[in-house]
Amino acid sequence: MKIYNTLSRRKEELVPQNKDMLTMYVCGPTVYNYIHIGNARPFVVFDTMRKYLKYRGQNVKYVQNFTDVDDKIINRAREEGISALEVADKYIAEYFKDAKELNITPADVHPRVTETMPDIIAFVQGLIDKGMAYEVDGDVYYETRKFPKYGLLSGNFIEQLEVGARIPEGEKKKDPLDFALWKARKSEDEIAWESPWGMGRPGWHIECSTMSKKYLGETIDLHAGGQDLQFPHHENEIAQSEGLSGKKFSNYWMHNGFITVNNEKMSKSLNNFFTVRDILKEYDGEVLRFFLLSAQYRGPINFSHELMEEAKTSLERMRECKRNLKAAVPAEKDDADKIAALDGFKNKYIEAMDDDLNTAGAIGVLFELVREINTNLRDGVSAAYKDAALKLLDELTEVLGILRKEDTEEIDADLQALIDKRQAARAAKDWATADAIRDELAAKGITLKDTKDGIQIIRN
Ligand SMILES: [Zn+2]
Repeated sequence: MKIYNTLSRRKEELVPQNKDMLTMYVCGPTVYNYIHIGNARPFVVFDTMRKYLKYRGQNVKYVQNFTDVDDKIINRAREEGISALEVADKYIAEYFKDAKELNITPADVHPRVTETMPDIIAFVQGLIDKGMAYEVDGDVYYETRKFPKYGLLSGNFIEQLEVGARIPEGEKKKDPLDFALWKARKSEDEIAWESPWGMGRPGWHIECSTMSKKYLGETIDLHAGGQDLQFPHHENEIAQSEGLSGKKFSNYWMHNGFITVNNEKMSKSLNNFFTVRDILKEYDGEVLRFFLLSAQYRGPINFSHELMEEAKTSLERMRECKRNLKAAVPAEKDDADKIAALDGFKNKYIEAMDDDLNTAGAIGVLFELVREINTNLRDGVSAAYKDAALKLLDELTEVLGILRKEDTEEIDADLQALIDKRQAARAAKDWATADAIRDELAAKGITLKDTKDGIQIIRN
């Protein structure tokens, strides 16, 4: 598989150091709120990357952290009158609910900053011992000029950064380019840990360097995240990790593009800021996942109601094909040539995904497959074709994390009771009652469709 490596600025064959286990680190959320769709994109994209690697037989160790100490969390805790840890616990639980709806498989390790404190302190001390960092009144700073390779990932080199750079009021660092590794506590009510430099807490960048090293080693295969993290976050991670180990931090870097809303940048001030939870009120999580994968991950993606409706319709077309295939009564016929033709779709799909995780291309191939299956279903298919096509559709959609829901869904008793009541009303030609139940179900996002195999439940 080839991926575009941000570090080299070209597509390269992805070769892990150890072929038995590819190590992958993805920057996780700062847990002070529900995740928004901009956060969700990297989680969905890189979860798909991992699923695809596994599909191709590559074992992956996947680490995604939770930043559970941060100014935003501290502020939120003050607003809500609870502790910073309670805020973090709450939004970690909410993250997992959203992730489940989006069919994101939990990482192998989800480390938390608060559980990694001794390692972070040791990392910072290691940088001081190596002469890469210094302490001033309880704050510790990384001395950026001591790392000559600074800027290789993002193109923000020291010579460019020093133009017009000033030290902000109140900061005691030696050089405007230096960044915080450890921050002294500013007030008694602020969450803080004991350290060789007094009570304080880590800076954001050092967390990822430490957690990556702790769970995946000094050199990892792949580090991924949103484009907005490239600078300064990822650049600083490299400076810290390589400054300490003297070894390359990550061989490959992948960055996903931005999300715009109605072609404008998403921001709270424009009031076009959507959390995943907002979207889930209106759409099934799979629709959002499908939408996020409908564009190549490196490009921007525009979110709008119309595009979500399109995604919903497209996904439903795929679901319908799968249901029809499942319901098809096999015919006595020899369609070995059609079974053999299925391989062509699989190969094209792999070709698309092998080319820098081109999910948009892979989805295009899936629709070609759907058209082919629909055509064959009209002519009748053998039991062997039915099995082979279902298996292929299933494995290719599983990699993208779509078409998972209807397989596992069980109809709850309340819903079944409503359906039975509607059927009874229809049988009695009591259209008023039947329509009222239909509206009640519609309000819950459920449509009933009468088919020759009985009633089909469609969740919107
Ligand atoms: Zn990070």
